[in-house]
Amino acid sequence: MQYKTLKRAGISVSEIGLGCEHLLGKSFETIDKVVNAALDGGMNILDVFMSEPQVRTNIGRALGARRKDVFLQGHIGAVWHDGQYKRSRDVQECREFIHDFLIRFNTDYIDMGMIHFIDTMEDLDRVQSGGVLDYALKLKRDGVIHALGFSSHNPVTARSAVEAGWADIVMFSINPAYDLLPEIELEHYFDAKTWQHDGFSGINPQRAAFYDACESRGVGITVMKTYGAGFLFNPALSPFGKPMRPEQLIHYALSRPAVASTLIGCQTVEEVAAALAYETADRQTRDYADVLGVSPQFKQTHQCVYCNHCHPCPQHIDVAMVNRCLDLAVGGQQQQSAAKAQYTALDAHGGDCIACGVCMQRCPFGVDVISRMQNAVERFGM
Ligand code: SF4
Ligand code: SF4
Repeated sequence: MQYKTLKRAGISVSEIGLGCEHLLGKSFETIDKVVNAALDGGMNILDVFMSEPQVRTNIGRALGARRKDVFLQGHIGAVWHDGQYKRSRDVQECREFIHDFLIRFNTDYIDMGMIHFIDTMEDLDRVQSGGVLDYALKLKRDGVIHALGFSSHNPVTARSAVEAGWADIVMFSINPAYDLLPEIELEHYFDAKTWQHDGFSGINPQRAAFYDACESRGVGITVMKTYGAGFLFNPALSPFGKPMRPEQLIHYALSRPAVASTLIGCQTVEEVAAALAYETADRQTRDYADVLGVSPQFKQTHQCVYCNHCHPCPQHIDVAMVNRCLDLAVGGQQQQSAAKAQYTALDAHGGDCIACGVCMQRCPFGVDVISRMQNAVERFGM
């Protein structure tokens, strides 16, 4: 298992973690097997957004003494109300839920406290001015939560929250299909007519700007919806018309800027094993370029998707990283400084390019790498 640092949070998490939502309604025996298979495989981060009490009791019981070995991502604002899940912005309800969460996990802290599901600017304003953020900040000051974050599906709202400066972590929905989408309501992600629109081309700039805002501020991303609720496995449903493998989708998520961990929802030991197979998969199995590179949405966009398909370079230039730095540098001062620092730290730079062009022959996305290397020299001076 590879581990990556959530920079502002200052913790090192497994690049594959467990999303626990599919454990809802499962027996303790099943939950025990799934949770311990994940931990035995090296996963050390669990997302628990579910407000239903019994599943949290069962996960806590399954963890037992291993609780201290994992980073728990718990949610502030997902509450259990009248026998149902409810998103709440009522501070008292949030307080009662966190109290209950700690009891069910037999713990006195939550590693990552995530303000739950902020998808609109109106809701962000309500969180920031209506008491929930103040409550979350107090939890952090008191050591009840160690890092503060939020979950979102909306790049514009999420970017605003990141730029407000209070978040250490964001849980965000990422896969190559969602990356095409503009700001769109979550409930329309799966509408057939959403995908009948033929204007999608490459990664939506709003989403790219969100990734760059996180990267430049050290705000780490944990990923949900890596598999797109399974529809990216189905060629009849996928906008790319070809099935994708779990390894490809995990690799896509992990190669987005600022992403530290992708949290895979598993309900069986076999699904845990399928996610863990990424760790031993070869480059070809992980490579998503053979699907996205022939898709009309990505083909010839001339946009780098950081797939590394163009490697190796005879000059040992990390082409994907150079492109990431260039993309990051188009933002404000903070992003430019972060881009310069990342670029300078690379072993080889645009100035080392001998314009052999082998990378361009391999790139499925029509990126003019030689020009990009020249751009890097102009921008970063090396
Ligand atoms: S230049 Fe092309 S092949 Fe290389 S990382 Fe970017 S998109 Fe992938
Ligand atoms: S063109 Fe430049 S970046 Fe591409 S493989 Fe050749 S030396 Fe490397």
